[in-house]
Amino acid sequence: MIDHVERRIGDLTIRIDRLLCVGFGDCIAAAPEAFAFDDDGIVAFLDTADRTGREELIRACQACPVDALTAFDNEGRRLAP
Ligand code: SF4
Repeated sequence: MIDHVERRIGDLTIRIDRLLCVGFGDCIAAAPEAFAFDDDGIVAFLDTADRTGREELIRACQACPVDALTAFDNEGRRLAP
């Protein structure tokens, strides 16, 4: 099983840690065009993720109660959580 996936969205890199995600869905509520559950009940990127704004993505990463989502800037600095 792949333990994490990353996607570049604007100047951010968003990482999903698939081993940490427990499926609460707070990130989906915060950024519904960026994230959805996959068949395993773990959060995944949507094809529409590019439409989500920077602040919304950072808020979604901060919303995760188990820190399964991380946002980095284009110099690799962690912005959230
Ligand atoms: S908020 Fe965190 S635990 Fe919940 S679905 Fe999103 S990544 Fe998974």
